[in-house]
Amino acid sequence: MANGANPGASNRRVHVSAMSKPRPELAQYYRALYSAMGPQGWWPARTPFEVIVGAILTQNTAWTNVERAIANLRRERLLSPAALERVDRRRLERLIRSSGYFRQKARKLKEFVGFLRREYGGSLARMFRTPTDRLRERLLGVHGIGRETADSILLYAGGHRVFVVDAYTQRILTRHGLADERAKYEEVRALFEASLPRDPATYNEFHGLIVNVGKNWCRTREPRCHECPLQPFLPSPALRAAAGAPR
Ligand code: SF4
Repeated sequence: MANGANPGASNRRVHVSAMSKPRPELAQYYRALYSAMGPQGWWPARTPFEVIVGAILTQNTAWTNVERAIANLRRERLLSPAALERVDRRRLERLIRSSGYFRQKARKLKEFVGFLRREYGGSLARMFRTPTDRLRERLLGVHGIGRETADSILLYAGGHRVFVVDAYTQRILTRHGLADERAKYEEVRALFEASLPRDPATYNEFHGLIVNVGKNWCRTREPRCHECPLQPFLPSPALRAAAGAPR
């Protein structure tokens, strides 16, 4: 998803305990968000393949731009691996133009459906029967699929047990003093997976709730802590200031 940098990040030094250590308060965050906002229905898609298309198209853009691109693909009956592989590249680019970086994204979609056909005979069901770690490694080998995209595909299209980390997740953890702003994707993912019940449904819902917090309250500039369901979890004023949260 589109996002921005944390304000004041360059001069800030946040010292945090080892990232691999479970943080039971994350389960409390989840409960607080769920009781405040309820189920999020994330990922917004009709089929697992549509999840995958959306996960690729949403790179570096807002979801509203992706919705238009997906509506175009649906109207043209292109939301299947075989149809996307057949369609002319230029036509595909035109149809997904609203999602930005449309030439690169058309290539990424083509690369993915090519991979799916070569490795799994075009069957998502076969692909998702692959053990999680092996499939994750393979997806990361496909042009244009990075960690967040691979994990979105695994969790939301395949029901695999992986936590999806995005910039909102990183920002919230940093502002709450739970992670160093320089924490790597894999460290944050491991932190969530070590701290929560090992349940894809929880991972699914929690990521959707975090996206909502990022959109509504935990903005890059001027976060609205006084209205946010996570406000009771902000640490001491000193740490909060160090983490970049407002006073
Ligand atoms: S309380 Fe403030 S810093 Fe924490 S998640 Fe909400 S908006 Fe962000």
